[in-house]
Amino acid sequence: MSTAASPLPAISDLDPSAVAQLVADLGLEKYRSAQILDAIWRSDATTWSEVTTLSRRAQEALAGVARFYSAEQLEREDVEDGATSKLLITLSGGAKVEAVLMRYPPDPRRGRGERATICVSSQAGCAVGCPFCATGELGFTRNLTAGEIQDQVRRARQILRGEGRELTNVVFMGMGEPLQNLDPVLASIDGLTDPLRGGIGQRRIVVSTSGVVPGIARLAKVRPQVTLAVSLHAARNALRDLLVPLNRKWPVEEVIAAAAAHARATGRRTTFEVTMIDGINDSPEDAAALAQLLRGSSAHVNLIPMNSVAHTPWQESPAARIEEIAEQLRASGLSVTVRRNRGREAGAACGQLAAERAGAPAPAAVARRRELLVVASAAALKGERSPTPLAPSGPLGGVEQ
Ligand code: SAH
Ligand code: SF4
Repeated sequence: MSTAASPLPAISDLDPSAVAQLVADLGLEKYRSAQILDAIWRSDATTWSEVTTLSRRAQEALAGVARFYSAEQLEREDVEDGATSKLLITLSGGAKVEAVLMRYPPDPRRGRGERATICVSSQAGCAVGCPFCATGELGFTRNLTAGEIQDQVRRARQILRGEGRELTNVVFMGMGEPLQNLDPVLASIDGLTDPLRGGIGQRRIVVSTSGVVPGIARLAKVRPQVTLAVSLHAARNALRDLLVPLNRKWPVEEVIAAAAAHARATGRRTTFEVTMIDGINDSPEDAAALAQLLRGSSAHVNLIPMNSVAHTPWQESPAARIEEIAEQLRASGLSVTVRRNRGREAGAACGQLAAERAGAPAPAAVARRRELLVVASAAALKGERSPTPLAPSGPLGGVEQ
């Protein structure tokens, strides 16, 4: 019996040997395992009863022991003229996460065909608490299971199949810090790359981290072809302490060393992400410090204009300043791209969709939070390191705090 506290397992939380065991336990023919994996990854079915390759008896037996999808509810919103689909997923227990599906036209200049990328969440909320990030402000709710992560990809593939398109890339840049939920993330990568299941090449998967040093080392060892992205945001420790609170535990030099070791061990180029915040991390001195830190590496730098988030006093850097910084970094030998507006409307890659649903923040709580950030950033910009991180404000929604 399933109860609210212990729902049935989701089928994608079972690896192929567990599926084979389930098939045996239910007294079904052995070959049903392959049919099940094929149905969940490659068919249009959304429930067991729609899996036409299975007999009615097998459908019913499976429905009694495993959920076809882990999500309780799925809402979809298409934006940017249908190029981007936001998926808001309610998981068992009520936690909400988002996934964002982005469709890209062919790019003949770079020899690329049509692409489609799904940005997945690995946690509901996040414990790291970067103050410019909507997810960070929500605080941490819970880790996702491997099946819950894979199901975001299954949904994306299903949507794309209906359009005659294929999913080409998966990026762990939605809600959560993937390296703080590493075992389920690794298990989900196994499922996504298994030829019998997702069939996606490891090289088409990007794991983005705010700098969990032991996790970077482990990723290099166990999934060496996965691409690593590191959210740097600041090259100087006082500012990075504020923007990425994990920096107190693993300071920027250690993060860079871990990324360099990853690049050496895997032969893969690391991408460093910098969310550009007006007047905070976009000065020529910031660019010089970044260039110094990455000197001699093959790293790629991605500059991302900050999406505005209600509870911060901060705005995106002006486009012209971002271009100047990009030029300065290029002049020092780095490869640099600037992410354009794509995804802004989607609130992509920063948990804004689910955060919006948490309710409009109370104005007084927002005002207090903004004041705190103004004071903390003024100190950080003077190079003062504070021993204590700003606590995430939590869901500010509605309630006076
Ligand atoms: N926790 C991981 C992965 C999820 S966040 C990480 O931090 O890398 C994915 C990316 O979205 C990160 O680079 C993060 O810095 C960026 N991001 C978060 N909030 C943002 C905002 N308000 N504007 C622009 N980018 C943001
Ligand atoms: Fe967490 Fe990444 Fe957001 Fe920081 S930017 S709070 S690590 S999801």
